[in-house]
Amino acid sequence: MSAPTRLKPGVVTGEDYRALIAACQDGGYALPAVNVVGTNGINAVLEAAAKNRSDVIVQLSNGGARFYAGEGMKDALQARILGAVSAAQHVHLLAEQYGVCVVLHTDHANKGLIPWVEGMIGHGEEHFRRTGRPLFSSHMLDLSEESLDFNLSECARVLKRLAPLGMSLEIELGVTGGEEDGIGSEDLDAANNAHLYTQPEDVLRAYEELSPIGHFSVAASFGNVHGVYAPGNVKLRPEILGASQSLVAERHGGGAKPLALVFHGGSGSEKEKIAQAVGFGVFKMNIDTDTQFAFAESIGGFVLENEAAFRHQIDPQSGKPLKKLYDPRKWLRLGEQGMVRRLDEAFADLGAAGKSLAG
Ligand SMILES: [Zn+2]
Repeated sequence: MSAPTRLKPGVVTGEDYRALIAACQDGGYALPAVNVVGTNGINAVLEAAAKNRSDVIVQLSNGGARFYAGEGMKDALQARILGAVSAAQHVHLLAEQYGVCVVLHTDHANKGLIPWVEGMIGHGEEHFRRTGRPLFSSHMLDLSEESLDFNLSECARVLKRLAPLGMSLEIELGVTGGEEDGIGSEDLDAANNAHLYTQPEDVLRAYEELSPIGHFSVAASFGNVHGVYAPGNVKLRPEILGASQSLVAERHGGGAKPLALVFHGGSGSEKEKIAQAVGFGVFKMNIDTDTQFAFAESIGGFVLENEAAFRHQIDPQSGKPLKKLYDPRKWLRLGEQGMVRRLDEAFADLGAAGKSLAG
């Protein structure tokens, strides 16, 4: 194995992004892709990555992007586009200061959200004209509920726009169970359904149609489910990922792991299955539900212990001012710290701690 590549700290795109994926797959580790909805989340992710000396992926769902722009903004499509752009600009401005490499990505976009992706690409093209670099490292297009023909032809069309900017596309084959931001279904009976397990033949077809156009990654389904459910409801079968890698490698070469694989619905997964998935070439594991809970739990504990400060400006018993307790910096910071602690665990589970390529 050659010495790991060194990259400039900050947002990574294009060749640097591909080098980062290769380093993950060669080194047998993966990066957490953390959903954020505001600057508190972004700053906590950057802080956690710096603390763990790991690179990291910051991502926004369409709902997260809309929230970032402000729920009061009337035009929902514009809010989704501009919220994501604003978050990306925040990361571009700060990431370098944290001394790690940061991938910027957007999460699930189904058929109805194609205009959201196209809107962000428009801003990406504008950013590229100004700086010679794209705004985001990659976007996701999740057309797994459509026919495979439509899924792949749309992905090809969008990738043709992304490739000249040095951007990558994440696609979904097979369906991640559960529901996230109104996309997908809560129906857990689906856990036994064959479409929850991606077919290697579909992955091979995607590889043959998309790799001549540009770089892409695959969110493959191996029983993974969004959200956290009671144990026993989900049966993860990471070996399905290995079957797709082998089939593509057998037909087209590209080493043992020709595919860049993504693990959706990582929250609440058994550590052993996470490690197996990473061994089969998963370089990115999405985490949302667990970091949401970590943020809420830390703030919730503080609010319950300091109830008076969330009802009165002056303590009705002691007559003392409570400003220091209800100052948002006090409790939002606790939320950030809770998120950092949960991410410490994610960096360890994924084997990413200490492996930052920034230098
Ligand atoms: Zn997902």
